Amino acid sequence: MLVLVINSGSSSLKYQVRDVSAHEHEAGVLAEGLIERIGVGNGGGGDGEPIGPRDHAEALELVDARLHEVLGDRTVDAVGHRVVHGGERFAEPVLVDHEITRAIERLNPLAPLHNPANVLGIRAIAEKWPTMPQVAVFDTAFHRSIPEHAWRYAVPDWLYSRHGIRRYGFHGTSHQYVAHRAAQLLGIPEEEFDGVILHLGNGASATAIQGGKSVDTSMGFTPLEGLVMGTRSGDIDPSILVFLGRQGMNPDEIDALLNRESGLKALAGSNDMRSVVEAAESGDEAARTALAVASYRLAKYVGAYHVAVGGAHAVVFTAGIGENSGAFRALVAERLGALGVELDDALNAERSKEPRVISAPGSAIPLLVVPTDEERAIAEATATVVERASAGSQPVGSA
Ligand code: AMP
Repeated sequence: MLVLVINSGSSSLKYQVRDVSAHEHEAGVLAEGLIERIGVGNGGGGDGEPIGPRDHAEALELVDARLHEVLGDRTVDAVGHRVVHGGERFAEPVLVDHEITRAIERLNPLAPLHNPANVLGIRAIAEKWPTMPQVAVFDTAFHRSIPEHAWRYAVPDWLYSRHGIRRYGFHGTSHQYVAHRAAQLLGIPEEEFDGVILHLGNGASATAIQGGKSVDTSMGFTPLEGLVMGTRSGDIDPSILVFLGRQGMNPDEIDALLNRESGLKALAGSNDMRSVVEAAESGDEAARTALAVASYRLAKYVGAYHVAVGGAHAVVFTAGIGENSGAFRALVAERLGALGVELDDALNAERSKEPRVISAPGSAIPLLVVPTDEERAIAEATATVVERASAGSQPVGSA
């Protein structure tokens, strides 16, 4: 089955075609690309900016033309969408119909930048290929198993009942995929796997896995909570926001400050971990401090989640930084010494795209590196949902 995986942003459309029947060791990627500047630079006063597609429908025409070139006679069998927010309703990927699309739209207030863009992508496909099966794969879904003591904030109930303010968690597709692969690597049945997954990319989150399920995660009501990220602050005292408001900053300014001007960028002047590590190695004090803050905060979460899962079988690094920055992994591992964790420097220095162990044989908790592949996870989930629906075991649109 050929699945077109779509990650639709407000002005961009990222796509990949995966052959899900490809064997485990094959990537199965037939085509991929990114269309940018959708709805940008059109009639914008002749400022010389390149003209992008007018809307998502026009962007999809560009994708279609490209797919014809690459796939020839083969055609896409289904489309899988990365949808950021599934709220409390969606605990699994679902086949999309009108009602599901409207349900995703109703969640717009919880993800005002992302869900409207995801819906644009779904509608563009429905218009172009009306009979194409579409599946929504939610970033929040894997975290629907988090128990109330971990998702509830200690605030009056109306914040939850009226506004849906609670922990949702994100990066779920990646955490689920990586937990599955980590259990495989360790030879433990997935439903018996307890561990801590560290998804460290430009956005970063840690997830506590117990019995193969998410039982806590560091991102919360939004992807701002938790770890120090590329440009996001992660956890801070909420009174800082009140203080800034009283200083005259408006909500949009505070939002931009904490989401786009904080994290590594604020501490070290760059949100690129490679540059921060290089600067620290050449003696830059601010870069050293940034690495110390980020690794310390991450190690605190590992300690907390080791407790949350009743003793982790493994701590797993993934995503851009987790997979590639041996230097950052080493800083975290050093802080985990109190748990009996011991890194193997040679294994940590190896570069490989394969899931692997990087701790010493005597380490009390194994450290793993497991590359994530969200597109693959979305493509496989899409194929499963479509096959189940066509076998009649899942009614269209059920959650
Ligand atoms: P992602 O969001 O998963 O693409 O990850 C982006 C982050 O990974 C950025 O902070 C990059 O600096 C970081 N990254 C990618 N490659 C490397 C590398 N070889 N060494 C250190 N950091 C890297």
